[in-house]
Amino acid sequence: MRIAEDPSCPVCGEMETSFHFIAECPMYAMVRWELQGKDSFSVEDLANLSIGDILRFTKETGRSQGGMLPGHQ
Ligand SMILES: [Zn+2]
Repeated sequence: MRIAEDPSCPVCGEMETSFHFIAECPMYAMVRWELQGKDSFSVEDLANLSIGDILRFTKETGRSQGGMLPGHQ
């Protein structure tokens, strides 16, 4: 069992799930636009993303779930 300190998105207050973060959050609309030419992703869009796209997404947003943040070192 894990205890989430704050599961809501700081930007829009939605539950901050991986899906929200990658597909819905308006904060990253520009990154989605650069990757796929869309400002939000559907479940089908996510299925069509390559691992490379997802890695690039997390890198560009600096929200890597592995805890590895780009830059500043
Ligand atoms: Zn959000």
